[in-house]
Amino acid sequence: MLLPRHETERLSKTNMTQEDVEYFRDKYGKRFVRALRSVEEGRVKEYSFHPSEITRWSVRGSRREYLVIPEIFCTCRSFYHEVVIDGTSTMCYHLLAQKIAELRNEYEIVKCTDADRRKLAIKWRRTD
Ligand SMILES: [Zn+2]
Repeated sequence: MLLPRHETERLSKTNMTQEDVEYFRDKYGKRFVRALRSVEEGRVKEYSFHPSEITRWSVRGSRREYLVIPEIFCTCRSFYHEVVIDGTSTMCYHLLAQKIAELRNEYEIVKCTDADRRKLAIKWRRTD
């Protein structure tokens, strides 16, 4: 999912106009509203692991935290069902939230060890 350039420009503004908000609500529906709320509530994180220097993004949803590979993948159920299986959508709201957070530089950077990464990976692998 690559957003058109004019959309990334509009999403990067912290003071969106009513027109911007309506545009995104029309195009992405509830996913946009949820994504924006996730960013505003500080639920987007970028983990930076040491010593591997691997970085991973996550978004905490209503039930748990999901691993997000920007523009490509999310471990949530709706990504699996709607994007992968049904093809009725190109992204879930976590992917959109990660994008907005990165564009606005509004995310938490969490520095951890690779031992922590292995523990997190167990959570992120869950598919329920
Ligand atoms: Zn998701």
